[in-house]
Formats: sequence, C-alpha cells, structure tokens
Amino acid sequence: MTSFLPDVAEPKHVEIFAALSDGIIHDTSPALIKEVVGDTLTDAEIDEYAKTFNRPSQIPAFKDKILEAINTNTTEASRLFIVLMTVLDSRILAPTLTNSMTLVKDMTLKERESLIASWRDSPITAKRRLFRMVHALTLNTLALVASDLHNKAIHYPERETKDKPYEGFEADPFRYDMMPKPDIDGAELFLTDIDVIIIGSGAGAGVVAHTLANDGYKSLVLEKGKYFAPSEFNFTDREGLGNLYQGGGLLTSTSQEIFVLAGSAFGGGTTVNWSACLRTPFKVRKEWYDDYGLDFAATDSYDKCQDYVWQQMGASTEGIKHSLANEIVVEGGKKLGYASKEIDQNSGGHIGHPCGFCYKGCKHGIKQGSAVNWFRAAAATGSKFMDQVRVLQVLHNKGVATGVLCQDEVTGKKFKITGPKKFVVAGGSLNTPVVLQNSGFKNKHIGKNLTLHPVTTVFGDFGPKVNADHFDNSIMTSVCTQVDDLDGKAHGAKIETILNTPFIQGALLPWRGSDEMRKDLLRYNHMCAMLLITRDTSTGSVSGDPQRPEALNVDYNVSKFDRNALLQAFLITADMLYIEGAQRILSPQSWVPIFESKVPKSERSITDKDYVEWRAKVAKIPFDSYGTPYGSAHQMSSCRMSGKGPKYGACDTKGKLFEASNIYIADASCMPTASGANPMISTMTIARYVALGLCKDLKTKAKL
Ligand SMILES: Cc1cc2nc3c(=O)[nH]c(=O)nc-3n(C[C@H](O)[C@H](O)[C@H](O)COP(=O)(O)OP(=O)(O)OC[C@H]3O[C@@H](n4cnc5c(N)ncnc54)[C@H](O)[C@@H]3O)c2cc1C
Repeated sequence: MTSFLPDVAEPKHVEIFAALSDGIIHDTSPALIKEVVGDTLTDAEIDEYAKTFNRPSQIPAFKDKILEAINTNTTEASRLFIVLMTVLDSRILAPTLTNSMTLVKDMTLKERESLIASWRDSPITAKRRLFRMVHALTLNTLALVASDLHNKAIHYPERETKDKPYEGFEADPFRYDMMPKPDIDGAELFLTDIDVIIIGSGAGAGVVAHTLANDGYKSLVLEKGKYFAPSEFNFTDREGLGNLYQGGGLLTSTSQEIFVLAGSAFGGGTTVNWSACLRTPFKVRKEWYDDYGLDFAATDSYDKCQDYVWQQMGASTEGIKHSLANEIVVEGGKKLGYASKEIDQNSGGHIGHPCGFCYKGCKHGIKQGSAVNWFRAAAATGSKFMDQVRVLQVLHNKGVATGVLCQDEVTGKKFKITGPKKFVVAGGSLNTPVVLQNSGFKNKHIGKNLTLHPVTTVFGDFGPKVNADHFDNSIMTSVCTQVDDLDGKAHGAKIETILNTPFIQGALLPWRGSDEMRKDLLRYNHMCAMLLITRDTSTGSVSGDPQRPEALNVDYNVSKFDRNALLQAFLITADMLYIEGAQRILSPQSWVPIFESKVPKSERSITDKDYVEWRAKVAKIPFDSYGTPYGSAHQMSSCRMSGKGPKYGACDTKGKLFEASNIYIADASCMPTASGANPMISTMTIARYVALGLCKDLKTKAKL
C-alpha cells in the first residue's frame, strides 16, 4: 500500500516529528529544575540547563539520531513514518489525527502536549500506537544526546570509571586475532583446515566452538558485529548501542508495541548481557519433552550439559553485592514471605563484579561470556575468527550445504567460504531464521513461534535523600518467582531488576505531561527500576528486509494472559517497594494513580490503609497494549526443535535442520518454547548438547 512512497526519510520529515517530540517534553522553569536537583547544580548551571536542554527540536543531535533511527529501521517502517509525517503536515489530512485545523508545527507547546495526551488516552488503537512511537523514540533518543549538565544533574557518569573492580585485580591482556577478509569482490576462500563454520559468536556459538575444540576440531567463527577487547569497552550509551546491539539498539516490533534489544558484536548477547544465570525450569523441560519430543530434556543428558556450562563459567552467588533495586527484591521479598532469592552470576571465580556498565561490555573481562571464556579453548587450538562479516546465505545443493556467501560489513564486498564439511547457524533467534530463509529453506517453522519474554517496569522513587548509584554494583542479582506460574504450565512473570540507565528509564517511564516527565527524568538517581518479565504464551514471527540486511520485521503482540501476568507481578513488586520504603510507586501506565507516602520505612506495614486501598484500585486496571511500554532482551524459539518431525519444527533434537544433512542450529532459536528463566544458560545447555552430537557426527564421517 505504501510502496509508491520514498524509502528514505528526510530532514523535513524529522522536523515534523521533532515538533511532536516537543509536546512530550519542552521548556521547564529553572524553579522546577531546582525543586528536584537541589544543590546538585549551581543556580547558574540550572539557568544554563533550562536554556540549552529544553525542547528536542532545538537539539541538532536529537534530530540526527531520529533520522538515523528511522532510516535504519525496515523499509516498511520508514515509509510508514514518512506517511504519518506527510499527513501531519497536510492541512487537509492532519485533522484526522489531530482534530485541529492548526498544523502541529504551528501549535503552541501546550497544544502539542494536549495532542499527545489525547493520543495516549484515545480509544482508537492507532492513536495509542502513535503515542507509543512518539513517546519511546523521543525519550530514548533524548537520553542518548543528553547534555553534560543533565548527566551531572542525575549523577550519571556515562561510562565505567573504575580502573580496577577490586583490590588485587589483574586484567587479562589476551586479544583474539581476527582473520582478514578477501580484498576482491566475488573471491572464494577454500579452507581445508577448518572442520566447521559457525555463524554468529554469541552464547550458542561459543559453547559449540569450545566443545569442538576440546574434541580436536577446528572452527571458523563468523560474526557480523565488531570485536572489542575488554579494555576497549568504555563507551557512552550512544556509542555502546551503536557498536554492540542489533540495529544500533533501535529495533521495535512492527506494531511499535515492544522494543527489542539483542547483542550484535563479537560474543553476541553474552557481551552485553547482565550475567544472570538461571537453570531451565523443570516444567519447561517437561513441556519440551511432552509436547515437542525433546527426549534429552527429560534425562540427565540435559543436566550434565547444564552443569557443564554452569561450572565452565563459574556461576555462583559468591561475592554478590546487591544494588538498591536488588536489595528490595531480596529483603522486601523476605519480609513479605515472597519467593525471592539471589541469582548466580557468571563471574568465573572473581571475588566481585561491581559492573553496572556491563550492558556495554565488561571492561574488566570478569563476565564469562563467549569472548572471555568459551572461545579461548578454540583460539588456543587453531580455530579462526572473522568479525564484521555477515553471512547472507548458506549455499547448498540437494540437501547438503557446500559453503557460505558472506558480505564484508565494512567494504560491502561479497565472497564465498567453502571447504568445511559442517555448518552451525547460531545467529540468535532474530537472525538465524533470516539466514535460513535467505538460503531458500522452506520449513514453515523457520521464523515462526518467536517468543520474547516481554518485560515492563515499575519504578520506585525513594526520595532525594537516597542515591541509588546504579552503576556501582552488578545489574541483576535477584529474582522473585512468586507469580511466575499462574496456569500450572510455568506461564507467569518473574520479578527481577532492569538495568536502570537513562535511555531505558526514558522509554519505560509513564508519561504524564512535559513537566512531570522532566521531574521524573531528573529523579533518576533516586529511583529503582524493577523488571517484570513474563514467560510468554504469545508468539510472533521474524523475517528480514531484503533492502536493509540489519533491519528486521518482528511481528509480535503481547497477549491478554501475559499482560495480566505482568499486572500480578506489578502488585507483588509494589508490595516490596512499599515495605522497603519507596516514597512513590509508579506503574508503567500513565493513567494508573501513583502511590505516595512519606511514612518512614520502619513504621510501614503491608496492611496500611492507604496502601491497601491504592493496591485494590490499581489491581483492577488492566495492562494495555500501547498504554504500557514493553521491551524484550530475550528472543527465543524462532526455529523450534522437534522430536516429532518437520511438521512440528525446523530442526531435529540434534539441532540438525530437517532440510539439510550437515547444517545444525545451536542457539536460542531452537528452543521449542520460551525458556521461562533468563535464557543464556538454557541456550548454552542446548548448544552443548548439539555440539556433543556434532562431534560424534564428525567422528562417524571420518571413519566412513
Ligand atoms: C541487554 C541484554 C541483557 C541480557 N541479560 C541476560 C542475563 O542476565 N541472563 C541471561 O540468561 N540472558 C540474558 N540475556 C539473553 C542472552 O544473552 C541471550 O538469550 C543469548 O545471548 C542468546 O544466545 P544466542 O546464541 O541465541 O545468540 P546471541 O548471543 O544473540 O548471538 C548471536 C550473534 O550472531 C550474530 N549474527 C547474527 N546473524 C549473523 C549473520 N548473518 N552473520 C554473522 N553473524 C551473525 C549476531 O551479531 C550476534 O552477535 C540478555 C540479553 C540482552 C540483549
């Protein structure tokens, strides 16, 4: 329908968007800023702040970043953006969206704010969807281009400042050598010394390369993202997102309902993830066995693989020092009798891991991801690594893969790699299906059944006397499982803690108008962000955009059951925040009343009348599709494994693609359904199992 439109947005379209963004947040009086920041800024700095960090439309870097975001999204999303902005700039068409004869750019700031509020509260889904897009894109982007004064006001250091994580720490100077790419377009690399090509370098890929290496096999690991040694992980948020995340960290579902974060750098998700190690829940393994025929999920083969990955990364609760948010889950849960506990961390025996910046890579190399840990055995025994190379297709003939077609991400030159006899696709649940689809494989499960573990956030504001200093400790060290099984089938929501960085805070805070938003942004260091994370009953799909290889179509909507699970988790979280002394409790939905109390923590009881009345009221307000901001950092099951044949999955229980004899899948995409627990350990466990089978296949082949 929109194919007659240009594919690329222009600055004129962004001008219209920026005029809308000004409705989300605009000029604030110095008095209001002072009310929140107190003495953190001098009066002169507050005046300067008010003059220079006011409306998005007056910040050139904001507009540049929006243009980049729109034009790196899918072609269809860019076109939709252009249509919307064109409509909003047309005197004839705009009133259908604005109910006004005045164009957005000619409206006063207050009129724009009212327009945004009317979209937020509209019974029309398309308008609420528009609100969600403007809200998330504006606040996320604004945080990424925040002025130094804003960062000073919120005590945000922007990057890891500690030289050493603890006394006596010695940094490991090891660096991987990256294999050079051919200079000539159309070249073919024929590699006889490599046994297996591995596509991707994330959680699954690392375990496969390690397992092969320990059995004497050599692999070539191909990663579309860039390799950074730990000492190079010293990015601002803007740099970190651009360098380490899929689509520069700006990926959203096509409906705009959910934003999606996935790692895309050497090490994949394990480079940016939050170290939390949780085993696959029993009921999930039972479901995989009962419904999808994964025999090994019910046996000690699974346990052995899981124990192996656990030990290899030194997962443990030793040395955990909780951040304020994590303390709330542990202590609040204990006081109220909720099922809360510490989460093991893959810190590899280090005595501490005080790294709240780990989402931009672990500068100290403590987190035992694929680069720090799993690929080391492979590097030591002759395996090779190539970064900034995108595998476009696995080449195959009559069900046998013969090579891969690659593109150098820097020069754009294409080349083939042939020679190795086996191929492992481990590009993660967003990309593995796209590589397979582009290669011409047709199984109907490729790209379907995508699960995302949708999340949303509850904010607890502890008042100006509390400085949460989110970056002094690890990000995620606690979990509450009180409502994570609402149907007896392990569907429900866990409560954990989200990385509380300004760009995530901005996208997830409820919007109640410009001044309220400004105040909440400035209260950043007094607030804790609690994560509600559901094991989804919803599923979606993913496919590529032929014109933009890094852009992905993610079709996904959060189901009513899952939204209710998040609501139940919200109530439990509110209890913990209340008992731990939060002065304000903010639902992610703007229309839910904020709970406020100045009663000291020591005098609070969960039966306090004002709290009980508020809780009863908010328990009746369902989570809306677009009224609540949703996100995902866990993508799974888009190439489901099945023990029941190709009608039920994309690969067999050895990870072998049903349509080819020498292609294996070994990443989160081959889980039959969502793992329920944070998926790194489950992904690695399955990858270990697939890799052990692959080693056997390589041996069998050698004997024949
Ligand atoms: C911000 C964040 C925090 C997280 N925190 C936790 C946590 O604390 N605990 C936990 O258990 N889980 C966590 N996860 C999830 C966990 O990291 C992932 O589930 C896991 O890494 C998935 O592994 P994978 O092998 O499927 O793919 P990934 O680890 O995502 O790796 C896939 C890699 O393949 C590359 N690739 C893709 N396509 C191609 C191609 N065509 N050519 C070449 N390379 C390609 C990608 O660039 C990427 O680097 C987190 C994830 C994120 C994003």
